[in-house]
Amino acid sequence: MNWRHSPLLHSLVNQPRLGLVTDMDGTISPIVDQPDQARVTDRSRQLLHELNSRLTLVAVVSGRAVDDVRQRVDLPDLVYVGNHGLETWDGQQVIPAPEAIHFRPHLDAALDSLRPHQISGMLIEDKGATLSIHYRNTADPAAAAAAFRPQIDRIARDQHLRVFQGRMVFELRPPVEIHKGTVFRRLVEQYHLQAALYIGDDTTDVDALEMAHKLYQEGICQAVGIGVESPDMPSEVAESADVMASGVSDVEALLGWLLQARSASSTCM
Ligand SMILES: [Mg+2]
Repeated sequence: MNWRHSPLLHSLVNQPRLGLVTDMDGTISPIVDQPDQARVTDRSRQLLHELNSRLTLVAVVSGRAVDDVRQRVDLPDLVYVGNHGLETWDGQQVIPAPEAIHFRPHLDAALDSLRPHQISGMLIEDKGATLSIHYRNTADPAAAAAAFRPQIDRIARDQHLRVFQGRMVFELRPPVEIHKGTVFRRLVEQYHLQAALYIGDDTTDVDALEMAHKLYQEGICQAVGIGVESPDMPSEVAESADVMASGVSDVEALLGWLLQARSASSTCM
């Protein structure tokens, strides 16, 4: 169901403590061939800025390093969580999740082991708390992924790390129970949100989309999970989302609607 037709979404707008938690890539910035070319749209940035003064919380949660996502969104007053929750920007500095810090030597060893298997077009990115291996620009991404998978599984096993697969990317992460779902719950609890929206487009967002159901069912928060459609969207996104948005431009429309609805309501924070 498109978000425009969701009575649930429309019923949340008047909740005094309403929060918005959004992913970045593929949600407020179009997917690009080179990860370092990603740009948040001007319209999204403007809307997030205006929403921040009308909502209890506006947070951006990304698989990118937190410094990276913070600089790309470029709004100083938002909350930023990077590396899928392994680091948080507290307004002044990056706070790493304590339980993940001692895995850094394992990531270094994994980097050394990965490099001999790197093929043309493959990008290995060291994000501090995690590693990403992008294969979007290899000659045959599906074949590259299939060939690489046994190698990365072995390296992960050797280094006590976990493998995750996203859109044209493998990730190696410390084996700690921190993901976008636990981040969403932490933010809902920390900011005492009565209602919250989560928007995301990828496999790693499914944890948060599913957490929205749990928060709702447990009576903790009226949470709504919004999936973002795209040509190579993983099917679990649509399966776990309450409602859908049709790409980055439709997310802009949703944010615009939210701002207008929030401005029209008499709700104070
Ligand atoms: Mg994304």
